[in-house]
Amino acid sequence: MKRNELINRIDTEAIWDVIIIGGGATGLGAAVEAVTRGYKTLLLEQYDYTIGTSSRSTKLVHGGVRYLAQGDIFLVLEALKERGLLLKNAPHLVTNQSFLIPSYTWWYKPFYTIGLTFYDLLSGRLRFGKSVPYSRKKTLKKIPTLEKSKLNGSVLYHDGQFDDARLGINLVQTFIENGGTALNYMKVKDFVKENGKISGVVAKDAETGKIYNIKSKVVLNATGVFVDKILKKDNPNAHKIVRPSQGVHIVIDKKFLQSDYALMIPKTSDGRVLFAVPWHNRVILGTTDVPKDKPVIEPEVTDDEIDFILETASRYLDKNPTRADIKSVFAGLRPLAAPKKGANGKTKEISRKHKIITSDSGLVSIIGGKWTTYREMGEDAVDKLVTIAELPKKKSVTKKLHIHGYKKNMNHSNPLYYYGSDLEGIETLIKEKPELGEWLNEELHINKAQVVWAVRHEFARNVEDVLSRRTRTLILDAKESIKLAPEVAEIMAKELKLDKKWEDDQVQKYNKLAIKYLIN
Ligand SMILES: Cc1cc2nc3c(=O)[nH]c(=O)nc-3n(C[C@H](O)[C@H](O)[C@H](O)COP(=O)(O)OP(=O)(O)OC[C@H]3O[C@@H](n4cnc5c(N)ncnc54)[C@H](O)[C@@H]3O)c2cc1C
Repeated sequence: MKRNELINRIDTEAIWDVIIIGGGATGLGAAVEAVTRGYKTLLLEQYDYTIGTSSRSTKLVHGGVRYLAQGDIFLVLEALKERGLLLKNAPHLVTNQSFLIPSYTWWYKPFYTIGLTFYDLLSGRLRFGKSVPYSRKKTLKKIPTLEKSKLNGSVLYHDGQFDDARLGINLVQTFIENGGTALNYMKVKDFVKENGKISGVVAKDAETGKIYNIKSKVVLNATGVFVDKILKKDNPNAHKIVRPSQGVHIVIDKKFLQSDYALMIPKTSDGRVLFAVPWHNRVILGTTDVPKDKPVIEPEVTDDEIDFILETASRYLDKNPTRADIKSVFAGLRPLAAPKKGANGKTKEISRKHKIITSDSGLVSIIGGKWTTYREMGEDAVDKLVTIAELPKKKSVTKKLHIHGYKKNMNHSNPLYYYGSDLEGIETLIKEKPELGEWLNEELHINKAQVVWAVRHEFARNVEDVLSRRTRTLILDAKESIKLAPEVAEIMAKELKLDKKWEDDQVQKYNKLAIKYLIN
């Protein structure tokens, strides 16, 4: 389905059952939920799908060991159930990841073994594996690069791992295949109202500048940290409901971990959690939790955040990563639900539970939550939309809905495993035109066919879409991604029938962005 075919569906006279603003995890979850219940649904994203927080996570499908320690058992139960469902519905993207919590004090091993056994029990039949204590010898066999001084062992536990932006694009495909209409680069600028009630939105196509007035029975505001901006468009006096909190990750070479096991540090010097997770042949280290006042699409990383991550990692790894080892650094903003008592306090203590708020105009807004719980958030949001718009009640079917790309027993050692059943399509492209099989970068596993595929089947419109989210080149190696940009632009221009000026503009724009992911 081409973008212009989807745009043609925005018939100004038609009334949609549901319009969803925001193409991140939350909006996409609600969109799939609404369309599979049979509602005529339109999703509008101002930039590219998952460009915001939803492509900047720690890439974990998890119950949240940390929330267990905080006593938020309901949240953990909910997330563990969703973790299990996601593994069943998107086995090409979600893997069972082993984690070790290293122990340097006598009480760590028994304490975390008990806690994690409880975590396993909460997962019930959707359990990923048994948590067990490991000796020092076994610990070092699994992660040989751990700091050895005073190490007395570790505790093994299991959680899920995934590719956030790839899940996002697969959800867009699932949504469209089920009859939904989604458009990226289509910003909602305002609301249309009748007698004080919202009856649609005004949206602007970023590519043509064309304005659309689109009617709908109900509108969902799923704009993450931008939720308050949308609320203000509806009511200039609306109270702030979001408390953005920044999390930074750095990406380093796999040699620092030399393992398929991930490392979990349950309590850093300031009481946070730090992960070192193997991902696409690299290691992701993070994250931080710093309150921010303003929502931005490209958050800035501070030196303090980088130093904190490097310093903490150095305490647990025998080879200390330095700034020179950083391949890429990225930051995201958690759209946390502001606590009732006001916007002070530490963001790490704010519950990650989602909240749904209905305005007097009938606008429904959703905040908080996690990638892991996106499906359940979608289910709750659509239940609310059905009530507000008095839509005919229909049962949710998403618990058992296979996500686009679904393929059981995917060979995860294939570097392009994340395409799932679409891998065959990419291979066919290469068979038809063997030069498309050439690597743009062999170490990062990006070939020319993937660029063509991203344009033809994954709604990629800009070089950034391909290098940052359809492939993850930008966050795996920002410097290398800059080198690839001209060739990617050339392939895309050919596919999109655009000229050399477009190519040059794209490369310039991309370089400006990618520099922000580099550390000097
Ligand atoms: C550092 C960090 C690590 C995390 N790690 C994990 C993890 O490992 N596992 C996990 O389960 N969760 C994790 N999370 C949480 C998870 O990533 C978020 O809860 C989730 O991505 C939020 O999705 P969202 O759709 O609400 O927001 P977003 O992804 O930000 O989406 C909102 C979208 O709305 C769009 N938008 C805004 N205004 C408009 C407009 N006017 N018109 C059209 N579109 C608009 C934006 O462009 C954006 O794409 C992490 C979060 C952070 C910050």
